[in-house]
Amino acid sequence: MILDPLVCRSVLDNLFEGVFFLSEDREIVYWNQAAESITGYRREDVLGSKCTESFLNHVSENGSCYCQGQCPFCQTPVVSLGTESLVFLCHQQGHRVGVWLRSVPVLDQNGKRAGAFEVFRAQNDAQSMAEKIKRLEEMALLDGLTRLANRSHTEANLQIRLEELDRYGWPFGVLFVDIDHFKAINDQFGHEQGDKVLKLVAMTLQNSLRPFDFLGRWGGEEFLAIVINVTQDKLEKIAERARMLIQESKLMVGQGQVELTVSIGATLAHKTDQLLDLVKKADQLMYQSKKAGRNRVTIDTDDAKEND
Ligand code: GH3
Ligand code: MG
Ligand code: MG
Repeated sequence: MILDPLVCRSVLDNLFEGVFFLSEDREIVYWNQAAESITGYRREDVLGSKCTESFLNHVSENGSCYCQGQCPFCQTPVVSLGTESLVFLCHQQGHRVGVWLRSVPVLDQNGKRAGAFEVFRAQNDAQSMAEKIKRLEEMALLDGLTRLANRSHTEANLQIRLEELDRYGWPFGVLFVDIDHFKAINDQFGHEQGDKVLKLVAMTLQNSLRPFDFLGRWGGEEFLAIVINVTQDKLEKIAERARMLIQESKLMVGQGQVELTVSIGATLAHKTDQLLDLVKKADQLMYQSKKAGRNRVTIDTDDAKEND
């Protein structure tokens, strides 16, 4: 099978490793995206220039200049594949970047070298470092199943909102959302389908809120939404919309559809509220929804405590 050159090009373009191609007279005729991000030089800056002009100016660990003699490209007509050397190239912004560099010769039909691919990856792969940090952050802040904020992240956000309410009077409310008869869903369809239900409810709730509201998984089949800048009326409307959208969402299992509803407790926060008391109040209101038959919203109508 002969690979389509466009496909090859796209593969090279999207590799995590920097790749450039040198013609036999050492002109740079290809430069991929990773090469741009590792070196800071854009394709249009380098194509057509000769690597002997050496803007990258590779130096070895002991400081000797690769471009004056040690360059694998010059040393041997055919360099063995897979030999990596640690070199320090000069970034476009002037600092040195350690890279593992490999020279891969390209031969013509007569076995004569026609050029070489230079393949390199950053020694302290900053990109993968950033990825690792991002993953660790996610592990600390997000719930593994639903990818919503986990409980401690939700508590932290709630604490900030309470402080804002206390200091600036910025109003917000919370919704405590509990899936109805979730144990029965697990029992009937299995734990795996139960997990799918949790993800579906998380997505629907998230989509039913406004982009600046906050949603977290409080525990098991319970979610907590922090709805900012609302009146009691508005909070009730948002809670009702979330309830309705869950009821209208569809999870098919085999030929059947899982019947899905939630009970919600909703309350505005008050300046005197402590974090856990506020959540407890919303939880108790949710429990009233359960007692009243489930699939409904109960909102705190206690007008005595006004935010002033
Ligand atoms: P109610 O309408 O009164 O809320 O009843 P319920 O069955 O929803 O509530 P209950 O507290 O009796 O059961 C909650 C179930 O949620 C029990 C537990 O096994 C299940 N659960 C908790 N976390 C997970 C999870 O991550 N995945 C799955 N599949 N099930 C979970
Ligand atoms: Mg529950
Ligand atoms: Mg439940």
